[in-house]
Amino acid sequence: MLDPPLEARSQVEMSTGNLTINLKGISNNWTALDQLSAINVETAAVVKADGYGLDAARVAHALYHAGVRQFFVAAAEEAAAIRMELTDDVNIFVFSGHMRGDTEIIHDLNLIPLLNSFTQLTRHVETLPGHPFGIQLDTGMNRLGMEPLEWEAVREMVLTLKPELVISHLACADQPDHPMNKKQLKIFQSMTDGLNLKRSLSATGGILLGPEYHFDMTRPGIGLYGGAPFSDAGQVVQLSLPIIQIRDVEIGETVGYGCTWQAEVPSRIATVAAGYADGLMRSISPNGSLWAGDNICKIVGRISMDMVGVDITNLDYEPNDLEIIGKHQNIDDLAGMAGTIGYEILTSLGSRYNRLYVSK
Ligand SMILES: *Cc1c(COP(=O)(O)O)cnc(C)c1O
Repeated sequence: MLDPPLEARSQVEMSTGNLTINLKGISNNWTALDQLSAINVETAAVVKADGYGLDAARVAHALYHAGVRQFFVAAAEEAAAIRMELTDDVNIFVFSGHMRGDTEIIHDLNLIPLLNSFTQLTRHVETLPGHPFGIQLDTGMNRLGMEPLEWEAVREMVLTLKPELVISHLACADQPDHPMNKKQLKIFQSMTDGLNLKRSLSATGGILLGPEYHFDMTRPGIGLYGGAPFSDAGQVVQLSLPIIQIRDVEIGETVGYGCTWQAEVPSRIATVAAGYADGLMRSISPNGSLWAGDNICKIVGRISMDMVGVDITNLDYEPNDLEIIGKHQNIDDLAGMAGTIGYEILTSLGSRYNRLYVSK
C-alpha cells in the first residue's frame, strides 16, 4: 500500500508525536532580524546541525526565497544537503575551515572555508590556489580562529589573496551587560580596522547588542528558529504527543521507573508517546508539563525511552494528545525545565516524529 501524503497521515491516529515546523515562521524571523540592522548590512543565515534539527534543505530553500544569499554551516559535509537548493551565486561559508579531507568537497560544492589557523591557510592555498576563502579570528572565546599574533604574522600575505570575509564570534552576546562583549568588539576592531575587508562579528545575540556590532554581515541562527535571546521571534515548532493509554491510580500507587512519583489523591494518568530517545531529556521529568488546550498537566515519574506519564486529573475530558511545545510553552521554557538551552532542545528533536512542514 502506498503511504498517504504527509498531511493526510497527520490526521489519522499515529503512535508517534506530530512535529509541525513553520518554514514561513523561519522566513519571517529572518526578515525581522534583517530589519534590525542597517540597509548596507547583509543578514546571512546559519543552518548548521541540519538547520538546528529542522531539516537544513527545507530551511535553506525557504530562506533563499525570503532573500538570503549567504549561508553558514559548521562542517563542509553539511553543505551537501543545501547546495542543490541554492543558486550558484549563493555563498556557503564553513566555520570549521579547510580540514584535511575537505579539499574535494570545498571545490566541488564551491564552499568558502573560514580558515582558522596558519595550518589551514597553508593547506588551502596549496591544494586550491585561487579558490575563495574567509578568515576566522579569535577575539577571546578561544574556540576557533587565528589569535592576534598569528594574524599579524600572516595578515599582509592574506590581504594579497583577497579573502571574501573576516569573522569572529562573541562568547557572551546573550548577556548584553557582560563586559566581554565590548572587549571582543575592541579586539575585533583592532585586528581588522583599516584593512578594507568585509567583516562579520554577530550571531543572534550580537545583532541585539546594536549597530556597532553589525559590521558588514550578521549571522543569526537560533533567532531564525524562534529561540532566545531573540524575544520577538515568532514560534516555529509545535510538538504534540498522542496519548497511548489513560488509567486511574489510587492513593499510594506509583508511576514509572524507580517509583519516583506517588499519588496523594486518586489520579488519572495519561501515558504519552515520546521519551528521551525523542529528545525529551530525563532531566525534564521533575519540573516538566504538557498542555491540554489551555490546561497545564504535570509530568509524573521519570521520562522513559519512549513514554512519559502525565497527570490529567484536572481535565474534565479525555484528550487524544497533549502539547509539549506550542502556544503555552516554547523551546526555551522546555529548555528551562531540562536545565539546558533552546538550541539543545531543537537539535535533540528525534527522528521518530511525524514531521509536518508548513510554508504558509
Ligand atoms: C552557531 C554560530 C552562529 C549562530 O549563532 P546563534 O546564536 O544561533 O545565532 C554564528 N556564528 C558562529 C561562529 C556560530 O558557531
